[in-house]
Amino acid sequence: MSEEFGKLISTARQILAADELLCRDFIPRKENPLPQFAGASPALEERARMLEAIDLEEVKGCTRCGLCEARTQTVFGEGDPDADLVFVGEGPGQQEDRTGRPFVGRAGELLTRMIQAMGLRREDVYITNIVKCRPPGNRAPLADEADACKDYLVRQLQLICPKVIVTLGNPATQNILSTRVGITKLRGQWQQLPLIGEDLGGLPVMPTFHPAFVLRQYNDPTRRKVWADLQKVMEFLGLEPSAESKA
Ligand code: SF4
Repeated sequence: MSEEFGKLISTARQILAADELLCRDFIPRKENPLPQFAGASPALEERARMLEAIDLEEVKGCTRCGLCEARTQTVFGEGDPDADLVFVGEGPGQQEDRTGRPFVGRAGELLTRMIQAMGLRREDVYITNIVKCRPPGNRAPLADEADACKDYLVRQLQLICPKVIVTLGNPATQNILSTRVGITKLRGQWQQLPLIGEDLGGLPVMPTFHPAFVLRQYNDPTRRKVWADLQKVMEFLGLEPSAESKA
């Protein structure tokens, strides 16, 4: 395929994806430009096992902060332990607390459609939150709660080794970037992960709005902003039709 033809195809697909995202209610693209997972390498299997161990042996019985008192169950995270892309939200909501899975309510459905509009499947990425237990009344996690839970997130990221982190909303963005600057100012601009754990710093971070906010502000300007943020991530990861494989 010539370079020019490849660019034409790339542009056409991008227009289609944007159209799906903005005009047709996040209808997913049908294809996945990343290679399908064919089998776990021993190192990957070990990392998956270690993630599971943190979840089962530590998080499920965790009482490090007061959020343990009202939870139904913990919500560790889910997805590809070898994901290039990790989404981090603020905390489980009611549905997540009930099911033990992250982002499964209405906001979760929208996040899934956002992932699909990027040409990925939900299982190609990893999804988690800064706290693993539901804050009462769906309030934002308090600083001490997020701090108490941070070690789990750090170890998740150390094991997954993503290429990009997308933070969803203000609490996740401010906690991960250790900043007080708000999401409205930070969204859409590449940030750098501070050194939050051994060998864990410097990763590119793209802050964007939380899907729950997008649902509340369901208008074209908000959706266009989120789509623009996701397109930057796609560009960074080579998630364009001309890029056929994980770098
Ligand atoms: Fe433990 Fe995190 Fe739950 Fe607090 S939110 S009890 S630190 S798992």
